[in-house]
Amino acid sequence: MSRRRQIYEGKAKILYEGPEPGTLIQYFKDDATAFNAQKKGTIQGKGVINNRISEYVFTRLNHIGVPNHFIRRLNMREQLVRQVEIIPIEVVVRNVAAGSISKRLGIPEGDMLPHTLIEYYYKDDALGDPMIAEEHIRCFGWAGHDEMQDIADMAIRVNDFMCGMFAAIDIRLIDFKLEFGRIWDGDFSRVILADEISPDGCRLWDMHTGEKLDKDRFRRDLGGEEEAYQEVARRLGLLQDDNGPSEVFDLSKHRKLRGK
Ligand code: C5P
Repeated sequence: MSRRRQIYEGKAKILYEGPEPGTLIQYFKDDATAFNAQKKGTIQGKGVINNRISEYVFTRLNHIGVPNHFIRRLNMREQLVRQVEIIPIEVVVRNVAAGSISKRLGIPEGDMLPHTLIEYYYKDDALGDPMIAEEHIRCFGWAGHDEMQDIADMAIRVNDFMCGMFAAIDIRLIDFKLEFGRIWDGDFSRVILADEISPDGCRLWDMHTGEKLDKDRFRRDLGGEEEAYQEVARRLGLLQDDNGPSEVFDLSKHRKLRGK
C-alpha cells in the first residue's frame, strides 16, 4: 500500500488526497457507530457493500440530473470523488415515522407521515448534531437562501427517485440522511450532493415483512446486520461481480502510469 495523505477520518469513512487536484479518495470502513459514537462495533464487509450501493445510487442520480461528488469506484472499498466544501448540515428526509421523530413527538413507528418531511441537523459531534430550523442556517451563515432552495429541491428529487428504486425491489424507504457540499468555479459556487447513500444512513424496511434492512439492526441489537446489508445489495443486483482482491488505491502507481 502506498503512503498517501489522509485528509480526514470519520466514523465510517476515511478521506485521502486524490490523484488530481480537486479530487479525494473516499475509503469505506467496516466500523459502525450509533448514538453519537457511544456505541461502537464492526459490521463485517459493510465498507465493501456501502461502496457498491453508494456508487450505484449516485451514478443513477447523476443520470437523472442530481449533481453529486461521485466520479468512479476505484476498487472494493474506495471511490474517487470531487472535493467539496462540506456544508455543516445533515438533511433528513422522512416518509414514515421512525427513530428520533417517533421518540421526540410520540408518533408511533411505522405511521405514514401526511407528507414528506425535511429536517435539518447541525453537524457537530460535540453538540450531538442538534436539530435546527432553516432560520438558524441563514442566521449563522451555514448556507444561503438560494443554496437552501437547491438543497430542498435535490432532497425531494432524491427521495422520489429512491422511493421508486427501492419499491421496485420490495423495500420501503422510511427515511434517510443526505449531506451536501459546495464546489467553486472562480467566484461562483454550486451545491452538489456529497457523502454516501447506503443502509448506514437510510431506514429500509422489507415491503411485506417489515424486516429492517439497515443500521437499526446494529443500533437496536437485532443481529443479522451483515446479512441485511447484503440483502439490499443483492436485491439491487450488485452482488455478482467483484473487482478483484485490491482494497486500496495505489496513488504512486496511478501517478507513474500517468507519467507524473
Ligand atoms: O435518528 P433519526 O431518526 O433522526 O435518523 C433519521 C435518518 O437519518 C435515519 O435513516 C438515520 O440512519 C439517518 N441518520 C444518519 N446519520 C445521523 C443521523 C441520522 O445517517 N447522524
